[in-house]
Amino acid sequence: MQVTFLGTGTSAGVPVLTCRCEVCNSLDFRDKRLRVSVWIEVNGKSFVIDTGPDFRQQALRERIAQLDAIIYTHEHKDHTAGLDDVRPYNYLNGIRHLNLYGHPRVLNQLKKEFAYAFEDIKYPGVPLLNLQEIAFDGAKPIYIEGVEFTPIQVLHHRLPVLGFRVGGFTYITDVNFISEKEMEKIYGTEVLVLGALQHEPHISHFNLSQAVEVAQKINAPLTYFTHISHKMGLHTEVDKTLPDNIRLAYDGLKIRLPNP
Ligand SMILES: [Zn+2]
Ligand SMILES: [Zn+2]
Ligand SMILES: [Zn+2]
Repeated sequence: MQVTFLGTGTSAGVPVLTCRCEVCNSLDFRDKRLRVSVWIEVNGKSFVIDTGPDFRQQALRERIAQLDAIIYTHEHKDHTAGLDDVRPYNYLNGIRHLNLYGHPRVLNQLKKEFAYAFEDIKYPGVPLLNLQEIAFDGAKPIYIEGVEFTPIQVLHHRLPVLGFRVGGFTYITDVNFISEKEMEKIYGTEVLVLGALQHEPHISHFNLSQAVEVAQKINAPLTYFTHISHKMGLHTEVDKTLPDNIRLAYDGLKIRLPNP
């Protein structure tokens, strides 16, 4: 199983348009953060979690040649806006609809935002999409193309958002609260990816010190922080202040894990 960080930035991305701070002006490639997403290759299948506005650019960079399903954490625009660009994957081997997995609330929002893809009579060439509900009932894993995904429900301010565990890999982006019941699903993970926005407190995201505290409680052999704002500071400066088993993720980083 291989996981690639397609993007590790917060909703505006880094650099931020119009900003002249040292992070936005940095020449280090690790300070260039597209909107957050990961690509998971497992058992010959290919999945992305979320399709933000940078999806096309990310798929080109990583040469994503196959896409079997898209799994959504939540409906915020920085996680959904690139959905129209999945069209070429509809025509790889004949014509094939792409399965989108998400909470019913998230799928309803996709239907509104991409209404043209769900009309009874579609304009030729629109994305071909099947909506697959993740009816979150607390504990049960779901199977996507034969791969087990365990949904983990967390809070993003008051919005319930899903994270996912696949074998030894757990991915939770937009979060500022994880209940003890959901923590049980995360314990024992080999690699944890967790959202950490910036140093200052925020209404809907863990800040750096809160994320470190949660990561240390889970105590995975390796934790990567993602969904990072320019306010976090320079990658190299911040990364060296973190405990040994916690790192800042960066765009293009790849992790290999055993198949689940
Ligand atoms: Zn987000
Ligand atoms: Zn900046
Ligand atoms: Zn969000």
